[in-house]
Amino acid sequence: MSDEKPKRLNPVAGFGVTFKAMFKKRLTEQYPEYKKPTAPRFHGRHQLNRHPDGLEKCIGCELCAWACPADAIYVEGADNTDEERYSPGERYGRTYQINYLRCILCGLCVEACPTRALTMTNEYELANTSRSSLIYTKDELLVGLTEGMVDSPHAIFPGMTEKDYYAGLVTEAAPGTERQAAVSKGEEPAAEEATA
Ligand code: SF4
Ligand code: SF4
Repeated sequence: MSDEKPKRLNPVAGFGVTFKAMFKKRLTEQYPEYKKPTAPRFHGRHQLNRHPDGLEKCIGCELCAWACPADAIYVEGADNTDEERYSPGERYGRTYQINYLRCILCGLCVEACPTRALTMTNEYELANTSRSSLIYTKDELLVGLTEGMVDSPHAIFPGMTEKDYYAGLVTEAAPGTERQAAVSKGEEPAAEEATA
């Protein structure tokens, strides 16, 4: 048997950490009154981009959906027609959904996108009170219009090809460009229902 006496702990020593912390600078963030700016390359909510004339960059290829490790993206492509054109090429993304209940904001979908149609914003406020509201549809993800754009669907810039769009030769909508009647949208209201 050992004669060593048990060590007596100083009951006040335990407060050392507390006292030290009391005099440290406070780290409390006054969120949501004050929203701390994120790093410029922070991965936040996604955005579907447009060409400078307002046509959509998404070609409905589904590469983003295949690249996603969380199976959070659902895409359905469709053919453009001369009467109803959403993107300069053959196909466009008719249905596009991202399920933010699954998304881990890794950015692999952005890496996979061949047209830079899909990018990520710095927006991080993605909480909500219902599951369905966290499945973002194309309407929510498609970026708004800026100067020189006409909302899709509309005709391709006269005399330009799809390649010219990617070469940066189209810088705004041609004078007189008008939005076409969205025929297929009326036919497929169920297409945007939550399926992701
Ligand atoms: S950020 Fe990652 S998890 Fe989220 S949709 Fe893209 S690939 Fe999927
Ligand atoms: S966002 Fe990009 S990768 Fe995804 S369907 Fe559209 S073009 Fe293809």
